[in-house]
Amino acid sequence: MDTPRDKVKKQAIKSKSTKRKDKKYKSGKVFRRKSLKSLGNFMNRILKTLGTLAHFGDVDPVDGEDDDGGFRDSAGCTLSANSGNFKEDFHGARGNTLKKSSTLSSHGSVKDRLSWCYGDKTPGVLGLKNHGNTCFMNAVVQCLSNTDLLAEYLGLEQYKSDLCQRRVNGIVKNEELVSVRGEVTEQLAALVRALWTLEYTPPLSVEFKSIVSKYGTQFRGNSQHDALEFLLWLLDRVHEDANPTPNNNNSSSKTKAPAVVQAGAETIAPAGPVNTQQPGTRYSFVQEHFQAQYRSSLTCPHCLKQSNTFDPFLCISLPLPLRQTRPLNVTLVFSTKGQRYLRVGLAVPLLGSMSALRTMVAEEGKISPDQVILTEIYPTGFQRSFSDDDDLTSIADSDVIYAFQTPPLYSKGGSARFSGYHHSLPSSPYTSGPEGHRLPPSGTLSSEFLNQGGTSKIQLLICNTAGSGQQAVRFGPPFLMREERTLSWDQFQQSILSKLYYLMLNSAQAQNGGVLFKIRVVGGSTSYSYLSPQDSRPLCHPAVDRALKLCGRGGPAHVKLIIEWEHKVKECLFGNIQEEVVKDAESVRVQQQQHLQQHSCTLDECFQLYTKEEQLAPDDAWKCPHCKQLQQGMVKMSLWTLPDILILHLKRFRQVGERRNKLSTLVHFPLAGLDMGPHVVKRSQSMRSLGPWPPACKHPPDGPLPQDFLYDLYAVCNHHGGMHGGHYTAYCRNSVDGQWYSYDDSSVDLVPDEELRTRGAYILFYQRRNAIPPWSANSSVRGSTSSSMSDHWLIRLAGESKRGSVVSRSSTTCPSSIPDSPESPVFHEEPSKDERGLSLLSSAMLNRVSINLLGIWAIISIKNRKIKVIQ
Ligand SMILES: [Zn+2]
Repeated sequence: MDTPRDKVKKQAIKSKSTKRKDKKYKSGKVFRRKSLKSLGNFMNRILKTLGTLAHFGDVDPVDGEDDDGGFRDSAGCTLSANSGNFKEDFHGARGNTLKKSSTLSSHGSVKDRLSWCYGDKTPGVLGLKNHGNTCFMNAVVQCLSNTDLLAEYLGLEQYKSDLCQRRVNGIVKNEELVSVRGEVTEQLAALVRALWTLEYTPPLSVEFKSIVSKYGTQFRGNSQHDALEFLLWLLDRVHEDANPTPNNNNSSSKTKAPAVVQAGAETIAPAGPVNTQQPGTRYSFVQEHFQAQYRSSLTCPHCLKQSNTFDPFLCISLPLPLRQTRPLNVTLVFSTKGQRYLRVGLAVPLLGSMSALRTMVAEEGKISPDQVILTEIYPTGFQRSFSDDDDLTSIADSDVIYAFQTPPLYSKGGSARFSGYHHSLPSSPYTSGPEGHRLPPSGTLSSEFLNQGGTSKIQLLICNTAGSGQQAVRFGPPFLMREERTLSWDQFQQSILSKLYYLMLNSAQAQNGGVLFKIRVVGGSTSYSYLSPQDSRPLCHPAVDRALKLCGRGGPAHVKLIIEWEHKVKECLFGNIQEEVVKDAESVRVQQQQHLQQHSCTLDECFQLYTKEEQLAPDDAWKCPHCKQLQQGMVKMSLWTLPDILILHLKRFRQVGERRNKLSTLVHFPLAGLDMGPHVVKRSQSMRSLGPWPPACKHPPDGPLPQDFLYDLYAVCNHHGGMHGGHYTAYCRNSVDGQWYSYDDSSVDLVPDEELRTRGAYILFYQRRNAIPPWSANSSVRGSTSSSMSDHWLIRLAGESKRGSVVSRSSTTCPSSIPDSPESPVFHEEPSKDERGLSLLSSAMLNRVSINLLGIWAIISIKNRKIKVIQ
């Protein structure tokens, strides 16, 4: 016996093995008709098996033993008056089949019942070939294919009745136009059905892609696209293709007309959306199940009057809480006698100026911010110093930042504070002795150094490289020293050497050897500036003056010098010494960890951000119609109604300062029982009556029940990688076996529940618990093993094909062959005169199978009961 994972691996699409019969689906439009006349292999198999299952044919798939939940209670709301007798009939006939169906249900799960057809494979668990950057398409198709309501709508071709409706209403007279209009839906349906019947072959997705390109020019070519953009486009197409409402020729028709209503104080109605739809206007399937409304309210801070705007949505774009800081490592170079190097981890603000970093470094090192020089160091040597005016975003996470502490020589107030002289050097036996010379008190460091020229000392940042220019390779620790500008080359060279002796293999060699290195001044010029050994006062070089003047606001003035050694001299004196190794403080690890932790949030926090009240910026001030004055109104978004299928988009792509980046925040979203109650506008009783729930009969008259707010996750579209391109995959829960599968183009794998939440989760698909069809294994009401009042649509698909053969054989005696197949175009061509009531019902409801969920079951039950009579 295979483990489930093995089964999936076997099912991972192998185009050759599944190349059974793509011909049938090439003309998905006429599938139904074809299936009646020339049954394909699939249907033949079904029929053969049906013949061998004695009890199968007896079972009315509609009449499960526990079909009362939901159906009977709400049927009165969903069925129109002229359908009442059918409801009665239906209930009357039910008793006959109860026992049989309960016998059946004890026989196993939906999967078991489909096993005669699919063997150990699970229907719907099949990958899609990538036809060149089509992963965005594949991921979205998998998510939609696992949207129970939609899969049934497409799989059983219920959408065809919507196309028919257009024709019957006389909206579209041209039959060809009907089929042309439905092309995207037809292809999507063919693809979804092929996935569920395990008959998918790559040409199907090629055809789907070409139809998508035909109607969505933006999707032409082989570029990567945003899966969300594609999803919304596709839903809009399906809406347009089967929109039963007349005069809907543009995409704006999908909106339930937004309306602005002036309200008084918040608790006083009217605050509901104005429903401008004509009475009797029908919503498309997409509107019916995917669309709901949000309210944006603008409150005047002066008069507290509120204006509400209602807009429809197919998807809620949730902002992710932004981290306010990021971890940055900075190497502190303390100017203590025993030179210390320590890398510390800091939580620096995402936005702000460098002075913030200077302050943080100073606090970390317990020194004054005035003593801190911030520089960036490349492997080739010093790169740049930072002034307080620089933006923090100019430091990338990977930049190597050093903070040098300058010796505290001055104190404000006049008197010199002699703190002893500390060479900023790694501890060394060769460290030169204390310096006797004291600088005059008062004044700031930089002006002292700049103005007093030869008599003052300047701060020098030194680093050593082997080789020069861009080929230079830094070695040994960088350090800070302070020297008189009047030094000769020899004096300066000796001073530098004295700070390096401790690193040398043999310091004696350095004592007697002329000019040992070149000294390059960093900054101030695009071309390299070197100090000259011939210069009597090399530190008075104009390049040094330029470098000093370039030091921006904040921190001591300084000059960065790179000591360039020839490779063989360096080897001889220093051996293979490389860059210094700096010890990490505990804070490095702590900050990394804390930022990882901060890097996650709950879905609730995202909703809180979404519904957070915000004040308009002064530039966006709006004229309050009551005060007649510009006011910085308070804006608040809230959900007014909820859809059956709730699509949540996590806004991972963001602009932060100058940079556009992807947030890899881990969002903890519930897999089951997401309670949307807190995020929906609280309505008083009066508001409830004034604010209709569109569509009106979606909720009981008393308003939504608590369970109307509960949602279960069934699919996740993931985005992997960075801003450009990246890759899409999908996690979907299968409605046959209730297992989660990972769909990565053509490969499919089982995925455990605990691995469903990743930092790549991009679009979340939830279905309202009350709206989950009972045939689905996702339905928590019935579970995956019990029979339900309505079988999985795949079983019904098989049942229909069987019925189809019965009907075609006995059409002369069957007056109801037409309503038998509401999704068939045949239906409207030959309306039955004998079955007037049924016809009425058919045109009123069968054409709109999706009047609502409960309505669907009612229709199907009636339909199937009729078939029983035929048999
Ligand atoms: Zn006002």
